[in-house]
Amino acid sequence: GRETVDLSETPLRVENLRKTFGGITAVDGATFSVEQGSFTGLIGPNGAGKSTTFNLITGVHRPDSGAVYFDDEDITGQRPYQIANRGLVRTFQIARELAEMTVLENMMLAPKAQEGEKLWRSVTPGLRGTVEQQEEEVLARAWEMLDFFEIDHLAGEYAGNLSGGQRKLLEMARALMTDPQMVLLDEPLAGVNPSLEKKLLKHVHELRERGYTFLLVEHDMDVIMNNCEHVIVMHQGKVLAEGEPADIRSNEQVIDAYLGD
Ligand code: ADP
Ligand code: MG
Repeated sequence: GRETVDLSETPLRVENLRKTFGGITAVDGATFSVEQGSFTGLIGPNGAGKSTTFNLITGVHRPDSGAVYFDDEDITGQRPYQIANRGLVRTFQIARELAEMTVLENMMLAPKAQEGEKLWRSVTPGLRGTVEQQEEEVLARAWEMLDFFEIDHLAGEYAGNLSGGQRKLLEMARALMTDPQMVLLDEPLAGVNPSLEKKLLKHVHELRERGYTFLLVEHDMDVIMNNCEHVIVMHQGKVLAEGEPADIRSNEQVIDAYLGD
């Protein structure tokens, strides 16, 4: 039988994940877990396997071997919308087609994209109303999230007209449409100016206080060190080190890995 893992304090656990693309081993036996309600950072030099790990966790890719556990369930190999339904989501860049839709339309589409056929279901759990009633609830949630991220004044704007930073706020707001338990953020601050960066991080901290769990991939070491209480370092597809920011900063293996990049 399969080994049971106590996930009461660790909603996410990956064990021995491996993924190769042709001759390239992108993820090479990564094992780590993320604590409930934490703001955990995932760092590592370019090509370390961070994005691939996110893709393996969220079902975009299927691992060659290893397992992903979320909320006490083995979710390895499940489809992205099934995983999203369980409450584990990642942010996605606004695709080109969506740039020609308004901010509000983008928000309304988010649950649909994650839910597959089960439109709106996780936003309105147990709701047995008409499609119109369900849509009204989704609309209310959309406004709530736009308001939270302070982009409600942009609701009627085409997503393609947003600044880089506003787009990042929209990507976060979209990810939260289905009220997930845990959010994976892959470089959410890329191209974001310092004042919006501060705002975005403030929102993450606020959401965390509400009980959400965050796993953040971010290039800027200072952002990770100043915001995350736990840091996981990947190098060449493996977890090289794990611990508190201060320990990671002074870890010689970590310093070597970055210098060798
Ligand atoms: P990181 O996000 O840490 O920079 P990635 O997970 O994107 O690293 O990439 C890890 C390695 O896997 C890199 O060598 C990258 O080129 C390779 N890789 C990632 N995705 C693919 C893919 N879809 N096809 C081929 N190689 C890939
Ligand atoms: Mg990456």
